[in-house]
Amino acid sequence: MVSEEDSTQSAMKQYGTTEPISLAGPTDGDNKRSLELENFMVECGLYERKEEAIKREEIISDITNIVKSWVKEVTRQKGYTNQTVEAANAILLTFGSYRLGVHSPGGDIDALCIGPHYVDREIDFFITLHGILACMEQVSQLQLIPDAYVPVMKFKFRGISIDLLYASISRMVVPQDLDISQASSILHNVDESTARSLNGCRVADQILKLVPNVENFQKTLRCLKFWAKKRGIYSNVSGFLGGVNLAILVARVCQLYPNAVPSMLVSRFFRVYTQWRWPNPVMLCAIEEDVELGFPVWDPRKNPRDRTHQMPIITPAYPCMNSSYNVSASTLRVMTEQFEKSNMICEDIELNKRHWSCLFRPFDFFRTYKNYLKVDVVASNSKDLIAWKGWVESRLRQLILKIERDTSGTLQCHPCPNDYSSKSKQCHCACYIGLKRKEGTRTEQVKPFDIRAAVEEFKELVYMCVMWRPGMDLNIAHIRRKQIHSHVVLPNYPNVSFDGVKREMISEDDSSMKKRICILLESQVYGKT
Ligand code: ATP
Ligand code: MG
Repeated sequence: MVSEEDSTQSAMKQYGTTEPISLAGPTDGDNKRSLELENFMVECGLYERKEEAIKREEIISDITNIVKSWVKEVTRQKGYTNQTVEAANAILLTFGSYRLGVHSPGGDIDALCIGPHYVDREIDFFITLHGILACMEQVSQLQLIPDAYVPVMKFKFRGISIDLLYASISRMVVPQDLDISQASSILHNVDESTARSLNGCRVADQILKLVPNVENFQKTLRCLKFWAKKRGIYSNVSGFLGGVNLAILVARVCQLYPNAVPSMLVSRFFRVYTQWRWPNPVMLCAIEEDVELGFPVWDPRKNPRDRTHQMPIITPAYPCMNSSYNVSASTLRVMTEQFEKSNMICEDIELNKRHWSCLFRPFDFFRTYKNYLKVDVVASNSKDLIAWKGWVESRLRQLILKIERDTSGTLQCHPCPNDYSSKSKQCHCACYIGLKRKEGTRTEQVKPFDIRAAVEEFKELVYMCVMWRPGMDLNIAHIRRKQIHSHVVLPNYPNVSFDGVKREMISEDDSSMKKRICILLESQVYGKT
């Protein structure tokens, strides 16, 4: 319940770059629906149990102690004086969903370790600290990703997944109460990888500062993450929404309706983003430049690449970036359809005609389309498969962009964010892309969709992988809906094999439309020799 005083405060303060759309607070009905929504979330198991929350705090405290003694040890090994060793310090800050207070049971913890300037990432973090962690019995599945856009060390600590980043700042001693909000001091003299590593924490802190009511923001974001997962659009890598994208979208709605409660915010979310005119950016504050620091920021007037972004969702801390550069015309269309459908459901919920459960119905991907592309990913052992699958999945959006390009957007693609492994085949998994002819395209004018060049270019791109090893293969096939069920559910389904150029004519069973999708596809098991 928003008190009159809160309401007046919100009315006086403007959150974000524009005035709010409405200052209205909740009616009794809104409060009732908020309570129902919250109960529904609890029933769905979205909140972790107290023991797990305590365990997470213990883990964070343990890792903090580990990095503190690691920095002292490195200081000693580098020959600094006892006094310097004594003062040497590292701090551990969380970010991502844990910092925002919206993590799900079993979810990961994103953490950033900040150390002094003489403790580097390449050797001290990725070799020395890695060695320390590798010997600990609480640590498992330790994995280094030093070449990533944001270099990271991944591991499980007492069963909880941790993504640990490192930033070395230009200070001799890291104070316990370091303020990372001031770009000019914290980003002074650091490289781009370090700025990116610091950015996750700076973004999370800013989001929490820029919303009118943190609790309402958290509850709404928790609902929308659950919704996006159920509707098959929670995946940054597939060109949909990830945690940070949703957090910014929700925060903007909170700014536009500063006195609204979660039930209102969820329905305003769908109303706002059904009407949003992309590629207008969603921003929580103005984008600032800093000539002295000179990091690149998102600016479509200056950077031609930024002009191609379909759904800009801008991070609120310097250097501001588009967090959803992965979105393609196809994935934006899929998300817009989902926003529209959910907007209608919310209108009914507000009229008490439907229950919240309707909003979270799982999306039935394999019944939605009549045609699919199946991308088979094969490796010779399970370790190779994990690496190869990660690489192929991170490139899959390129296939979609190429198909969009070669069919002038008339063949629409919907990537499924999940992959499916086959029980009959070892070291294999498959990704699926739903295919649909763009509505309004006249069937008689439509030639076969020729995606041979798109597929070939995609394969060339994928096989350029630096960690490619013999046995890592890829096969792309066109599958009908009638066949796909057996591919996904029945592991013994024989693989569809096409030799060379294959012309697949598929008659769709929608007789009133008499639509046919014909695809030219070069498809064969493709491997580096
Ligand atoms: P989840 O509950 O799924 O873990 P999350 O918000 O923690 O949600 P992660 O994918 O774990 O999301 O990412 C952790 C953090 O890394 C994000 O909160 C964000 O700060 C940063 N990050 C991830 N992807 C991006 C991106 N595309 N652009 C900018 N920052 C990103
Ligand atoms: Mg996370």
